[in-house]
Amino acid sequence: MKTLVMKFGGTSVGSADAISQAVALIAEHAPAWDQTAVVVSAMRGVTDALIEGAVTAARGDDQTYRGIVSDLRVRHTLEVAGLLADPATRTSLLREIDTYLDEYSAFCRSVHVLGEVTTRAMDTISSLGERINARIVAARLQQEGMSSQAVDATEIIVTDDCFQQAVPLMKPTRERVQQRLVPLMQAGIVPVVTGFMAATIDGITTTLGRGGSDYSASILGAALDASEVWTWTDVDGVLTADPRIVPDARIIPELSYTEVGELAYFGAKVLHPKTIRPVVEQNIPLWVKNTFNPACPGTRIVSQPKSTPGTVKAVTAIHGLSMVTVEGRGMMGVPGIAARTFAAVASQGTNVLMISQASSEQSICFVIPTVDVAKVIAALEEEMALELARRDIDRVWSMDDIVIVSAVGAGMRGTPGVAARLFTALSSAHINVIAIAQGSSECSISLVIDAGQATQAVRQIHSEVINHESA
Ligand code: ASP
Ligand code: MG
Repeated sequence: MKTLVMKFGGTSVGSADAISQAVALIAEHAPAWDQTAVVVSAMRGVTDALIEGAVTAARGDDQTYRGIVSDLRVRHTLEVAGLLADPATRTSLLREIDTYLDEYSAFCRSVHVLGEVTTRAMDTISSLGERINARIVAARLQQEGMSSQAVDATEIIVTDDCFQQAVPLMKPTRERVQQRLVPLMQAGIVPVVTGFMAATIDGITTTLGRGGSDYSASILGAALDASEVWTWTDVDGVLTADPRIVPDARIIPELSYTEVGELAYFGAKVLHPKTIRPVVEQNIPLWVKNTFNPACPGTRIVSQPKSTPGTVKAVTAIHGLSMVTVEGRGMMGVPGIAARTFAAVASQGTNVLMISQASSEQSICFVIPTVDVAKVIAALEEEMALELARRDIDRVWSMDDIVIVSAVGAGMRGTPGVAARLFTALSSAHINVIAIAQGSSECSISLVIDAGQATQAVRQIHSEVINHESA
């Protein structure tokens, strides 16, 4: 049994033209598979608008959400008019959309009265765009002669109750997918499942985090034992670098799950970072393809890529960061300093992007978002008050305006000289490296660099290391 899961992101289903293109792609590819399931996001910008309406209502503004409702009504009405020829189908779909938008107004009114919006309410509110769009896409598929049905993921994807960041529970999800989705597919119906949203075991709506429709697709892929998962987006695939910085960036034809994990983490916004988790265990290949350039094959993500032409496949930079250093000679050989340092950072709810400590043990440095620096330093000074008073720790300080530039590629493993080539590339452009980290997976090397030199560093690594190796 060959099953394909295809996911279309917000831009790929963001207008009548885009939806008709997406539907044409489904019609083209579905016949080659025994079963096909589709996952859709809300139209581009809709989730943002829904959230904005609720947030402003909670702050006492009862006008903004009303404006948003009328904008969304106009936008969806235009799309439906552009997509569906039959007046009766059009009318009944528009009526359904109206019901959702009325529901949204009612939610915002309650939020306005209460003066707050809980994460639980926000999940119900923010996922309305997916519910509307799944119905539009299913209706267009029917017009094109395919049997199709919209399915709310609340019926099939079961999660914990961590609202806005829910974690799937695969066993009940698998059972529900088998009960609800498989019979549809066996009857030749293409289900169009809402991305992003899910529900607790008791049926309370949750969401998987912003951009979570990719994750929905891979959860369904795993629950269906799919042969492949394709995510259709608006770029040609995963690129060797950000094309706005490196104009000659190229598509990477094949990546491993581990490599793409490093890239997702380091800000390549092609896939939701959690997407690969469900497919890894079952070894399901994941493709990234471009709805607007379907002739381009895209990027294939698998456990073992066929070949690794270059040792470094991609280079990325993350901005908005600062490096915090805890330093002092009295730290040497004292157990527990690192544990206390990171406990203090965690107490502030701050995410650490990179850590480095030299074996002299005279300092620990780590990189965090700049917005968190003040509170993290205050927490560290409090935690280390005694050591600071005794001068075991000399100071806790931060360096702002830095970036992490990261070179990714599994081929670095066991290949001597990659770090040397990176440093040579940077030094020949007079770029100073402030700190370095490489995990023992040897799948990426991260360098801390002054933000002013980030663009140059990325270009330099791309031209001297990536281009050079694949030449
Ligand atoms: N519509 C959701 C969002 O904007 C999910 C997605 O697009 O993947 O975050
Ligand atoms: Mg997305």
